[in-house]
Amino acid sequence: MAVSNVSFVVLATFACARIILAGDVIVSGQSQGLGQQCSTNIIADEVKQMFSLDKAAASTACSCGKPLGMAGVCLKTEPVEIPQRQNEKEHEFLLASLSQLPSTSSPSFASPVARFFLLSGIAELHIHEELEPKRVDSFDLRTTQLFKLSPVQAVCISASPEAKEKTTYSTGILVQFRNEKECSSFYRAFELAKKKLSAQDSDLPNKILSLSKSTFDEKTDPSSAKMYFHYYGQLLHQQNMLEDYVRTEAYYAAVTENQADFVGRVVVDVGAGSGILSLFAAQAGAKHVYAVEASEMAEYASKLIAGNPLLAQRITVVKGKAEEIELPEKADILISEPMGTLLVNERMLESYVIARDRFLVPTGKMFPTLGRMHMAPFCDQNLYVEIANNALFWQQEAFYKVDLTPLHEPASQEYFSQPVVDAFDERLLVAQSISHVIDFKSVKEEDLYEIDIPLRFICTNGSQIHGLACWFDVLFNGSTTKRWLTTAPGEPTTHWYQVRCVLSQPLDVMPGQEITGRLHMIAHSAQSYIIHVTMSTELSGPGADQGGNPQTSSAKYNLKDPYLRMLQPKGFSLAQDHKPHHDGQIQSLTEH
Ligand code: SAH
Repeated sequence: MAVSNVSFVVLATFACARIILAGDVIVSGQSQGLGQQCSTNIIADEVKQMFSLDKAAASTACSCGKPLGMAGVCLKTEPVEIPQRQNEKEHEFLLASLSQLPSTSSPSFASPVARFFLLSGIAELHIHEELEPKRVDSFDLRTTQLFKLSPVQAVCISASPEAKEKTTYSTGILVQFRNEKECSSFYRAFELAKKKLSAQDSDLPNKILSLSKSTFDEKTDPSSAKMYFHYYGQLLHQQNMLEDYVRTEAYYAAVTENQADFVGRVVVDVGAGSGILSLFAAQAGAKHVYAVEASEMAEYASKLIAGNPLLAQRITVVKGKAEEIELPEKADILISEPMGTLLVNERMLESYVIARDRFLVPTGKMFPTLGRMHMAPFCDQNLYVEIANNALFWQQEAFYKVDLTPLHEPASQEYFSQPVVDAFDERLLVAQSISHVIDFKSVKEEDLYEIDIPLRFICTNGSQIHGLACWFDVLFNGSTTKRWLTTAPGEPTTHWYQVRCVLSQPLDVMPGQEITGRLHMIAHSAQSYIIHVTMSTELSGPGADQGGNPQTSSAKYNLKDPYLRMLQPKGFSLAQDHKPHHDGQIQSLTEH
């Protein structure tokens, strides 16, 4: 599945308009180069919405490194596993210091310690002084949210229980960590505690009384989820995926070539959509298939399955989210198509992994079994110029006698912050690609909240680097045959195309020169990711001595807000120096 197809454009545009009006989504058109400040503003909106915090207070609270006049924010954290007590595992973090938000009356702690306190019925984050553990500030995890402001900084906000009587609705602390690792581990401990809490709540005898949300609802913005399932509830979008024959054929072949994995087995189809993969599994001899689908498409899947009576008796459609539904038995094999643009967009891999933990027997199989993200630097002057030109409108000095130039720079940044989705010629790549493996059998759901990939390339020729190109593949590791589904440039184009993160400041490289950097992706509640790319030329390697100064270029993108370039008028692709041989295919796909 992927949202980058013709029909989606209409919806995406509509979605953006609604989302902006509702003021509830992360970034649309936030610019790269703003760095932390940018994510700060975005978070401020969310913080304000969730906790009725005054917007100005929220954004001040979030402005990195300026903690409201409270000095000395340098946090020392050391995650310490506390031995099991009363069958509950606790996590404790030693903190050097932290700041309180203005609404919080209590003073700062000298040598703070943060501890997650989990006992049945209680889930709290306790902050106390290392030497004075009796004076405790506690945050109820049911009403507390953690927002990561930067790789080393987070703000923890809790709704006040007495909100109705008070003018202040929220309390919070701004935490700065010593390093990224400690920040990430605190973040994970927080998410884990929230997850445990949600599991505890769902164990309550009367679930209706429970206010807890499912994992999906906890982390997903409701308007994003609504739009998402509305999209997949429409047959035209399911058709788009079915008509991606590279995709559908790969699934069909993977199932039929590995019939032994399906015969007599219980299968769960996670996100069944039209029910096509359930039908493939039943054709391959599955004993029973549970087709789990959250959108209204579940009704159509039932209809389609009923229309194939020989298979229908072995398929049950279960309408609901993989995170929430219950099944009468465990599965021997999971089948799913949870891949979005750049593999992880839409964050459905997390649902796939949750379904694994909930329904799959420990020795069970997963189709697909693993995914790989691939990355390589590229040179594409035409694309670069095209993006820069998109902002030219704002260079008019007399637009109805109005000077538009003050907005040229932000407009340009906005255009450069959109990941470009299209199919490009593989000859545009200027180094051997590297890859990052996500093993669906073993990855933890939380591991997908933040994906951090170190980059290192050796340039094959001297050129300009205009950014980082990314694509993915997945493996069906069947017992009989292994089959890959790839979205690589140079291979038949799929509806996922490829993704390119374009740098507004290209790098000049010599043949053999080394490029290092980082691809850092942080999941957000609109079912997508903020992507940070940094690339630097290194003064090492054979070509480096001829190259001038070391250069670094970095940028930020929102994967939710792509530039769907494959849908642009054909003139754009005709203008390419290297005319991609995919042109014909792109055209025919977009004409469907
Ligand atoms: N399996 C189908 C559809 C794939 S698209 C095919 O291969 O053609 C992904 C589908 O998963 C969509 O229909 C979407 O509504 C559904 N989905 C996404 N997240 C889900 C979740 N958490 N629980 C259940 N269904 C989900």
